[in-house]
Amino acid sequence: MSAQVLTLEGERQTLSDETVEEIRAIFRGAVLTADDVGYDEARIIQNAMLDRRPGLIVRCTGTADVVDAVKMATERNLLVAVRGGGHSIAGSCTADDALMIDLSVMRGVWVDPERRRVRVAGGATWGDVDRETQLHGLAVPGGVVSTTGVAGLTLGGGIGWLHRKYGLACDALRAADVVTVRGDIVRCSASEHEDLFWALRGGGGNFGVVVSFEFEAYPLGPVVWNGMVVYPIDAAAEVLPRWRDWTSTVPDEVTSRAMFWTLPAVPPFPPSVHNRDVFMMAALYAGDPDEGRRACRELGEFGRPLADMSQALSYRTAQSALDPLFPKGELQSYWKSVYLDRLDEETTGFVVRVGQDRPSPKTLVHAPLMGGAMSRVGATETAFGDRGARYILSLDGNWLDPADNDVNIRWVRDAYHEAVTLRAASGTYLNFGGDADLDDDDRVRAWGRNVERLRQVKRSYDPENRLRLNPNIPPAEN
Ligand SMILES: Cc1cc2nc3c(=O)[nH]c(=O)nc-3n(C[C@H](O)[C@H](O)[C@H](O)COP(=O)(O)OP(=O)(O)OC[C@H]3O[C@@H](n4cnc5c(N)ncnc54)[C@H](O)[C@@H]3O)c2cc1C
Repeated sequence: MSAQVLTLEGERQTLSDETVEEIRAIFRGAVLTADDVGYDEARIIQNAMLDRRPGLIVRCTGTADVVDAVKMATERNLLVAVRGGGHSIAGSCTADDALMIDLSVMRGVWVDPERRRVRVAGGATWGDVDRETQLHGLAVPGGVVSTTGVAGLTLGGGIGWLHRKYGLACDALRAADVVTVRGDIVRCSASEHEDLFWALRGGGGNFGVVVSFEFEAYPLGPVVWNGMVVYPIDAAAEVLPRWRDWTSTVPDEVTSRAMFWTLPAVPPFPPSVHNRDVFMMAALYAGDPDEGRRACRELGEFGRPLADMSQALSYRTAQSALDPLFPKGELQSYWKSVYLDRLDEETTGFVVRVGQDRPSPKTLVHAPLMGGAMSRVGATETAFGDRGARYILSLDGNWLDPADNDVNIRWVRDAYHEAVTLRAASGTYLNFGGDADLDDDDRVRAWGRNVERLRQVKRSYDPENRLRLNPNIPPAEN
């Protein structure tokens, strides 16, 4: 029952049986050592490649547990990993021999339909939020897979199906309750701890543990138009430029993405496209479904589609349609992404080449359309940084067999290194990133001019860089 946990300096600290029992008596939630039933289930994260074994896991059930866990870490000088939904592809929510402060059972969501405000506990998923908000015909801009955590996605920005109509997830944030590394509870908003509020909107989990998010919600659904048209992968060179031209004409209600994929043999895909390499386009219309049908009609006219699965469906169904393709703890994953200012000839040729060259059928190369409401927020208004890019190219390497790790990681890295040399390339989106260790160039690519201000905020709230297992921002020196 004893546990060994690393200190910030990398030394092993032994917590004896008695100490673990004393710690257990403090918490409402479970305190799990490697010997405990439930430990293996609690340590599994989305990315199967990162099969890590924390020294101790504290499954917090409320703010008091988080305060005590953070205080324990600071008093004992322990290495801390903070876990929300566990979807970080770089695995920054876990580490061998660290203390994992696990919020994944804190999943409450409270909706105030009159004020269109939603309070979300720090370990909730987007599925939790959609379920409660859709009861009232409301939605908060989130991601495209319902099992992804609200915390990491929002703190890193958050693109999905609504960012063109309503902005990024972090743009909908109106306030947050944060436990600082000293164990204080700080509420931040546009008028309280403004510097912290600014940094949380894009700066990741660097500044404290967020126990509760307060979002503005927007009218949506329950039925939306979901465009989904599948073309042969060989048609991509012809279809991609037509999709690009179409994206420059669509209203903010339309969010769309182009994807290279091998379609799995599961619904909703018809048997005619099962296991086929395809180039496909998906879209969601954030408004009246009939208007959506008209706005997305052209998706099926860019060539000769293999299948057109466009339909009106419930927003919650659209939001969870991709879930079965990302089973927790089964895929080995390594992702990288590049913002693209345009899809010019050079870029289009590159995207088609890498899309057709994927080394694994599970690997997804996709290009979400940006712009709209998210692009009307200034680069320094939130920590997120510049929003001028028109697209993101995301290289989502996924595969099943650990024996294939090297070849797949190398493929993503090679494609990424080539992508950053494109004339249209401009920064990187760290939520679609597979490396935990950032250098100064990576930080500039992610946060641009905001890096220095982020370092100042980090110094105010975490001067010793106790929260370092994240896309890390080192504190300013003085
Ligand atoms: C299948 C899949 C689909 C995805 N889809 C999208 C998408 O549509 N749009 C998009 O923008 N991104 C998407 N992502 C990326 C996702 O936004 C990031 O991986 C994000 O970090 C996940 O957040 P999480 O809470 O689930 O992850 P975690 O791994 O739990 O946490 C991620 C980071 O946030 C920190 N953190 C977690 N909880 C807290 C908290 N309460 N307080 C402070 N820090 C915290 C962690 O320490 C870690 O550094 C997707 C990822 C996957 C695997």
